[in-house]
Amino acid sequence: MRILVQKFGGTSLSTEQARDRVIRHIAREREDGFAVVVVVSAMGRKGDPYATDTLLSLMQDNEGALPPRERDLLLGCGEMISAAALCSLLLSRGIPSTALTGGGAGILTDDQFGNARIKSIGTDRIMGLLRQDKVVVVTGFQGVTAAGDLTTLGRGGSDTSATALGAALRAELVDIYTDVNGLLTADPRFVAEARQLACVSYTEIGNMARQGAKVIHPRAVEVAQQARIPVRVRSTFSDEPGTLVTDTPPAAQAVKDRYVTGIAHVAGVTQITVKALDGRNDMQLQVFQTMAKHHISVDFINVTPSGAVYTVFDHDAEHALQLLRQSGFAPTAVSGCAKISVIGGGMSGQPGVMARIVEALTEQGVTIMQSADSNMTIWVLVQQEDMAKALRALHAKFDLHRETDGP
Ligand code: ADP
Ligand code: MG
Repeated sequence: MRILVQKFGGTSLSTEQARDRVIRHIAREREDGFAVVVVVSAMGRKGDPYATDTLLSLMQDNEGALPPRERDLLLGCGEMISAAALCSLLLSRGIPSTALTGGGAGILTDDQFGNARIKSIGTDRIMGLLRQDKVVVVTGFQGVTAAGDLTTLGRGGSDTSATALGAALRAELVDIYTDVNGLLTADPRFVAEARQLACVSYTEIGNMARQGAKVIHPRAVEVAQQARIPVRVRSTFSDEPGTLVTDTPPAAQAVKDRYVTGIAHVAGVTQITVKALDGRNDMQLQVFQTMAKHHISVDFINVTPSGAVYTVFDHDAEHALQLLRQSGFAPTAVSGCAKISVIGGGMSGQPGVMARIVEALTEQGVTIMQSADSNMTIWVLVQQEDMAKALRALHAKFDLHRETDGP
């Protein structure tokens, strides 16, 4: 049996026309001989009646009153609505179909409610249904604990449901359908010239995803890479093949690693600066132990004997500053910053990359508040109001609108 997993994101299910397109993609692949497993997200985006963010807002009035276990019960509803609606649509078009919850599909997780990890997937039930020629529609983003409680997998969890099911079922391919044509060289919401990449490695898309390109979740990429299952990121709204993710690109594509693959961003971060206190040498230890103890995730860390600079998410900033003051420090903070990443497999050892970044941003009058680099990525921190300008300037400086593979 040739198995294909198709995952449809929120916007792919939000309107009748979109759902029509979804049915077409399912029917086409069935005609091509695939046994199809469909993973669905909740319908629409924030503000839409059944979107996950809307469900979340149902309990905002007394935040904290709902324990994580019950919160997951609420959060899991969006995908169940999608799965049932899609199943009924398939049946009405004469396509045999069964809808399953994550638990019903055999997805067993740990009991970390809100951010559960998949422990195993039992495939008997799905395989049985596929043998009966049914399209199996599975709710994304959720699983079940050994005790039978519904869990959710955290942001972007439906992508992980899809690749994990793909791995467990030994699928030939996992298709991630969304509202853009594939992985682009930058977020098209900010960079109109962003170009679609036809073929990328797991490492490239994983890096893009980790640095904020939300078209696929980084965990989903890891799972696919481990199982060596090819993934395509593609649009629900066209029949184009999208971006192929694999470690064995077609010969024509097997050029050397791209110099720069793309540019990603994360907005909504605060830069915190802490100065060491006279006569005390425990600043570094104090600061980072305190952040860790309170589960505040820190990034962009730069430590010197005289002080520390790092970033936290805006929504953690007030808490972080309060903790630092309690420890006797006098921190300063700049909120509303954005971290921009220039990502490439082939930039390591290439001289002049940083010089070009500085040049691009200086030409646009964008101040670099901080920077750091690894062998595959260079990061800069800028004010959020400069973010779009900076993304466009870097995109142009590295000629990403054109097919290039070198400096
Ligand atoms: P879905 O609901 O289908 O999961 P998401 O909103 O999670 O969709 O992801 C798709 C969005 O990711 C696109 O609309 C696009 O704005 C954004 N995006 C950010 N960076 C990139 C990139 N490099 N390539 C493609 N899309 C990107
Ligand atoms: Mg998504």
